[in-house]
Amino acid sequence: MNLVDRDKKVIWHPYTQQHKMPDPVPIVRGEGVYLIDEQGHRYIDAISSWWVTIHGHANAYIARKIYEQALLLEQVIFAGFTHEPAVRLAERLLGILPPELGRIFYSDNGSTATEVAIKMALQYWWNSSRIEETNTSQNQSRTKILALKNSYHGDTFGAMSVSARGVFTLAFQDKLFEVELIDPPTDDYELPNLQWNEFACIIYEPLLQGAGGMNMYSKSGLDQLLQKCKSEKIICIADEVMTGFGRTGKLFASEHCVSQPDVICLSKGLTGGTMALGVTACADWIYQAFVSDDKLKTLFHGHSFTANPIACTAALASLDLLESEQTMSAVNRISQQHEEFVSNLRQSSAKNIRQLGTVVAFELDGDANQYLHNSSGSITSLALRHGVYLRPLGNTIYLMPPYCISDEQLLQVYNVVHKLISVELV
Ligand SMILES: *Cc1c(COP(=O)(O)O)cnc(C)c1O
Repeated sequence: MNLVDRDKKVIWHPYTQQHKMPDPVPIVRGEGVYLIDEQGHRYIDAISSWWVTIHGHANAYIARKIYEQALLLEQVIFAGFTHEPAVRLAERLLGILPPELGRIFYSDNGSTATEVAIKMALQYWWNSSRIEETNTSQNQSRTKILALKNSYHGDTFGAMSVSARGVFTLAFQDKLFEVELIDPPTDDYELPNLQWNEFACIIYEPLLQGAGGMNMYSKSGLDQLLQKCKSEKIICIADEVMTGFGRTGKLFASEHCVSQPDVICLSKGLTGGTMALGVTACADWIYQAFVSDDKLKTLFHGHSFTANPIACTAALASLDLLESEQTMSAVNRISQQHEEFVSNLRQSSAKNIRQLGTVVAFELDGDANQYLHNSSGSITSLALRHGVYLRPLGNTIYLMPPYCISDEQLLQVYNVVHKLISVELV
């Protein structure tokens, strides 16, 4: 039996309707921007394998560091123990994150990074209002959460609860806790009418909402919203799981704004897309609300693989590459190439064409993102036949290439996209 037939007997794939599922592509090797299948076909990974692979596949530098660390220390419990890769990574991240942030909490993916952020924010208010020894809290503990319509923060229950309600959450609707979902800010933004001082926190994907359809929104509007939240002491949580590490043209998307978040969630590109790791970075004043003789003020959260040494080492190696001049100039080069591509796209039938840094998105037809639109599968298979891997979000096509993509490879991707636009899809 070949790999595909064996797969079909035992595997349940993520975000995949298994019924009449097209054969999965059997990948045996990665090399830079390329994914290489059993037959030796090479595909340009134009979406960085679900937005994680920032330096390309099978990067030799990161691989070597992973190997060396695996021989030295592969895992250790992170309660009561520490190790060099975790401490070094925290030091380096705090060196490049907004200066307001002073502590790093590790977990192991993007959903857990946002879960931790929400728990930190809620417990900050609980801790701050607690009357010690009584196990009760005064009623000024804030418990409400603000989030943006159209947002996506992960697939665990807390992360789903703070995400937009839609096809991903429909089956779990009545098990999700309540949040106040407000419109993403616009250039002529007017703050919504809310009882602001009831809110514990706001969680948002800065400027670019990924899984919700690559929706881009206003910088000035976001700044206005954040300033209001800060003035009301609402903890601002930037979910940079996707936008972090250069995606939007800056190291972090929050850098586009004047107001800086109190908490930042990171994952995806953190390890260059090689290992699962999550980070929740928070301001020192949040951390201080948990430092107490009162044991109930502890953040009771952790995962078996919290701060896994190999994953932290992979992240350090990825940062080495990211901080080299070459990588950030590649980010600029891709952003500029995209700009030219976007102006060409405007001559086509593509709708709502938008770009931020290394991300370009547009709708093929229809006015807005429709995740269950049936063109998605045909676009993927058509693009694969032309040597490019794309995975539209329904009718929304987007590009998010690894930074090591060359001008020629990028042109090949653009050409395939132009072909897709001109073809009648079923
Ligand atoms: C992907 C994503 C997540 C969830 O990360 P996982 O590692 O897939 O759990 C959370 N927030 C944003 C903005 C994401 O893009």
